[in-house]
Amino acid sequence: MKTKLSIVAAFTAAMLSAQNNPVLGEETVKVSEHVWAIMGWPNIAFVVGSRAVLVVDTGLGPRNGATIARVVSKLAPTNSRLYLTTTHFHPEHAAGEAGFPAGTILIRNSAQQREMEANGKEMVDLFAGRSPQNKELLSNATLRAPDITFDKEARVDLGGVTARLLWFGGAHTKGDELVYVEPDRTLISGDVVQNKVVPNIFRDGGTPSSWLAVLDQIAALNALHVLPTHSAPGDGSLVALEKKFISDLRASALDLKKKGVSVEAAGTQLGAEFKTKYPDWPGMNVAGFVRSIYAE
Ligand SMILES: [Zn+2]
Repeated sequence: MKTKLSIVAAFTAAMLSAQNNPVLGEETVKVSEHVWAIMGWPNIAFVVGSRAVLVVDTGLGPRNGATIARVVSKLAPTNSRLYLTTTHFHPEHAAGEAGFPAGTILIRNSAQQREMEANGKEMVDLFAGRSPQNKELLSNATLRAPDITFDKEARVDLGGVTARLLWFGGAHTKGDELVYVEPDRTLISGDVVQNKVVPNIFRDGGTPSSWLAVLDQIAALNALHVLPTHSAPGDGSLVALEKKFISDLRASALDLKKKGVSVEAAGTQLGAEFKTKYPDWPGMNVAGFVRSIYAE
């Protein structure tokens, strides 16, 4: 038992450091019967069928895209068709497309594509300015138009496994995409459902209530496995936990707002309170989300 626990701890520590490294490795973990993942920044999902593979997210820049393409060739039967989709338009999720082989079929929802056209290039420049390493990784990034766009749902039959690409509304961004894999009942949840990570809304992406409305639609899928982008995979209970956390923070923040407490003071106070309430969450910087709650 003791040994088992320390293996889990070591795995978690290694994964946490990988999840901050913008260069992806080629090692994968199996999430469910047809789903594998590279644990990194962000986690990359592979849904493998008998005829085709769907990759979810690209990594930061073409070098990471090329790493993912090499992993595809190891996981998939030869001559498989390759589909690619992105959970949202931010560069570590979408700016590695140029590293994928010619003939890759790029699919994303129309809300996300509109954000990409409006702010994609700006975000690439912003991320490139954060470090020399990011700058290098993004130097040859291109943002090509998708081959297929959809409004609410696209079903991709990969051979023995179906990926449902879903848009339920804005949460972290306007164009958050969820992928639900059948028959595995695996949800690839983007930044919308994480494993004990304080949520964050990018600019005017969604609102706390639109995020909750998205979570209600996700809950109806009744997922068994959840693979988030920036935290460890878990079971379906992560969906309810995400909803509990947001509802809880929202109620507490609205209460303070009603009492006339400033948004800054509320952020500080609730950060401390929620650290006690959710002791196993690694970080509790709630100031940004409290601002979103006050602003709605
Ligand atoms: Zn993001």
